[in-house]
Amino acid sequence: MKYNFCGNSGLQLPEISLGLWHNFGDVDNFGMATSMIVHAFDSGVTHFDLANNYGPPPGSAETNFGKVLAKELKEHRDELIISSKAGHLMWDGPYGDGGSRKYIMASIDQSLKRTGLEYFDIFYSHRYDPQTPIEETMQALIDIVRQGKALYVGISKYPPEKQMRAYEILRSQNVPCLIYQDKYSMLVRNPEKEHMAINEKYGVGFIAFSPLAQGLLTNKYLHGIPETSRAHKSHGFLQEDEVTPDVIRKVSALNDLALQRGQTLAEMALAWLLHNEKVTSVIIGTSSLTQLKDNLKARENADFSDEELNIIERILA
Ligand code: NDP
Repeated sequence: MKYNFCGNSGLQLPEISLGLWHNFGDVDNFGMATSMIVHAFDSGVTHFDLANNYGPPPGSAETNFGKVLAKELKEHRDELIISSKAGHLMWDGPYGDGGSRKYIMASIDQSLKRTGLEYFDIFYSHRYDPQTPIEETMQALIDIVRQGKALYVGISKYPPEKQMRAYEILRSQNVPCLIYQDKYSMLVRNPEKEHMAINEKYGVGFIAFSPLAQGLLTNKYLHGIPETSRAHKSHGFLQEDEVTPDVIRKVSALNDLALQRGQTLAEMALAWLLHNEKVTSVIIGTSSLTQLKDNLKARENADFSDEELNIIERILA
């Protein structure tokens, strides 16, 4: 595994991290979840990405991760970077959603309890909340660090001007933002436009989520929607109507290029992200050990010729 320094910090993250949004809830197979976490760690994946609401049901991914940690990885806590987040709906009423101090402070305590951890390595504001002053949300993150409940803080899915404002507030109180997390893949290019330049200016790392566009950037949807796929599952976030003929036409052309490079499409789509120096780490999500092993192989060929990069741009245009 290659480890990259996260922005200007002294913290190194593995170039591939494992996310527990899907596939680690109580609706999933605990044995498979355990195998994937342990195999990832044995392969050098030191970073595991959680959030309060991951499951389903919400909270169960943290509880299940805590069980695996206690049973399999207890003596390795200091070799692990574990993150969690608060920002999306977690419990009923006005205090279980958004960016208020009330919600964030209560949520991190719940997350620590579920995972059995004494602290998170990284704690995020999971989304920008336009109804809460950004100063309040950032102060909660600063206080979380001061209280020893997290070592570093990050933000996810902030509009660029709010991203910058958050960095200013955090920096002014000597709790610099470590990392910015957003959706980034061959099919979703928004972070390239503004977020990455802001990160460079402030020395903040970038971590990509949904790098395979929830599975679209693999060969699995080329001939329809398989029964075992995220698009088919009732609790999956990928909707069947997102598997459009236009997307499949692009994916099919990308698949041909991947085969020419001697890779699966999943490997090539991840390699394309690894090849970008502005990306500190890529958070993958996997539903089987086979997928995890396939995705980890992306590192074996992350070089692209200019011609290949041009072909990719033409396909995606
Ligand atoms: P991906 O885009 O990598 O999608 C993962 C899914 O793609 C898998 O569950 C599987 O779906 C399919 N897949 C993965 N590898 C392969 C393969 N080799 N061959 C075929 N199919 C494959 O990532 P996610 O959308 O899961 O996001 C990753 C992580 O990012 C999350 O776990 C979470 O930690 C973070 N995240 C953060 C968000 C935020 O708001 N900050 C939002 C979303 C994610 P299938 O079930 O079909 O097999």
